[in-house]
Amino acid sequence: MPAMCLGLEGTAHSFGAGIVSADGQVHSNIWDMLSPDEGGIHPREASRHHTEIGPSIIKKAIDQAGITPDDIDLVAFSRGPGLGPCLRTTATMARTIALKLSVPLIGVNHCVAHIEIGCLDSGFTNPVTVYVSGGNTQIIAFAGNRFRTFGETLDIAIGNMLDTFGRSIHMPFPAGPIVEREAKSGHKYHSLPYSVKGMDLSYSGMLTAARKLISEGVSVADTCFSIQETAFGMLAEIAERALAHTKKKELLLTGGVAKNARLTEILQGVATRHGIRFHRVTPSLAGDQGAMIAWTGILQFQAGDRLNTADSHIWPKWRTDEQDIVWRTQQ
Ligand code: AMP
Ligand code: MG
Repeated sequence: MPAMCLGLEGTAHSFGAGIVSADGQVHSNIWDMLSPDEGGIHPREASRHHTEIGPSIIKKAIDQAGITPDDIDLVAFSRGPGLGPCLRTTATMARTIALKLSVPLIGVNHCVAHIEIGCLDSGFTNPVTVYVSGGNTQIIAFAGNRFRTFGETLDIAIGNMLDTFGRSIHMPFPAGPIVEREAKSGHKYHSLPYSVKGMDLSYSGMLTAARKLISEGVSVADTCFSIQETAFGMLAEIAERALAHTKKKELLLTGGVAKNARLTEILQGVATRHGIRFHRVTPSLAGDQGAMIAWTGILQFQAGDRLNTADSHIWPKWRTDEQDIVWRTQQ
């Protein structure tokens, strides 16, 4: 039987457990998200949520995979980047299970895991990746043994911008899907700050300007339409420049905001113009979940990576390009 990995994800508001085998099969992928009634995510509340629901999520993942704990050959966990209390809770669960089962422990970079699960899902080997989520907005490509961040947000992440805008007009959390639905009935474009600075972008000005449109009486639908066209256009410009620079032949869209059909359509258009392949990660693998951690854990394990429990402290500020990607050959 190919090696089975239990992957635990818990960098922010979601806690997830997934079981993936070394042949790339996802056997289970269970998660649960803390949805605050009002305000943003409080790190302490999110970590309490993970503590409370973690054990039952892990049990469900094992049951749904049709295995017993003894079938688990390694345990991987999201080591960073993320919120300290959430990472610590997740790491504690991973250490405990690995020690109890006497199996290796692997620390996984959350952003790298989004890319690797996207590659598994698409069969891509060397994409330019647009990673868009609640906490991250990055354009990434592999170069010189690392996943290099070619461009990123200088302030808030795109998902955070959508959620914060939504909250200000009383949309429930997460607001991203509701903004998408509203935008479908919007038609009139209202100008919002298009803020691309070199290879980086900024969304905080757009958030302020979009709220101002609402206060001036512009409809929610037209405002959501304008937000989407501007915010996604900015991403397309940077993705296009990264493609021109790296000459890569694959464009991958991943992260929770990848569930958006309009963003998918815009980036598909970029890929078509460049005559390259495009893939939007299957929605169940787009947001934060354990299967991506399990799969990346397997790749690291196969390359000989191991983590001693004593050295397994969390890295809340672990950047995408800080890790040598030992399981990939130079491209
Ligand atoms: P993640 O941080 O990867 O779990 O993704 C969560 C983020 O994705 C939140 O900010 C959501 O608002 C956002 N999101 C989820 N679905 C959509 C959608 N259909 N359109 C835009 N954003 C979305
Ligand atoms: Mg994420």
